[in-house]
Amino acid sequence: MSETIFTKIINKEIPADILYEDEQSLAFKDINPQAPVHFLVIPKKAIATINDITPDDREVVGHLSVVAAKVAQKLGIADEGYRTVMNCNEFGGQTVYHIHLHVLGGKPLGWPPY
Ligand code: C5P
Repeated sequence: MSETIFTKIINKEIPADILYEDEQSLAFKDINPQAPVHFLVIPKKAIATINDITPDDREVVGHLSVVAAKVAQKLGIADEGYRTVMNCNEFGGQTVYHIHLHVLGGKPLGWPPY
């Protein structure tokens, strides 16, 4: 697949406010926050959309939620609660074609999200 801006963030070619990193994943603050706390958790493996996830990706995709919860705890939003969202393709509102888990919190969030 073609490279996205998130590959450049993973490779430290462009800056990001990194909150957590390990061999499989990276978490960083969203540059255009939609809530008082808004960060993204991405796999280092470039997977374009949820539709492109294969059974071999199960472990890394599950790991994104583990990291989301760990960083939410670190930022103090875990007990009050937060939302995780992964947008898919145009109707889902996806703009960067490297899967990413949005984590939003720090205030009560509305539902449904439109
Ligand atoms: O789900 P979607 O693809 O629309 O989300 C992409 C997200 O990546 C946006 O929330 C945008 O603000 C964020 N972004 C970022 N840093 C960049 C480019 C995009 O945090 N350099």
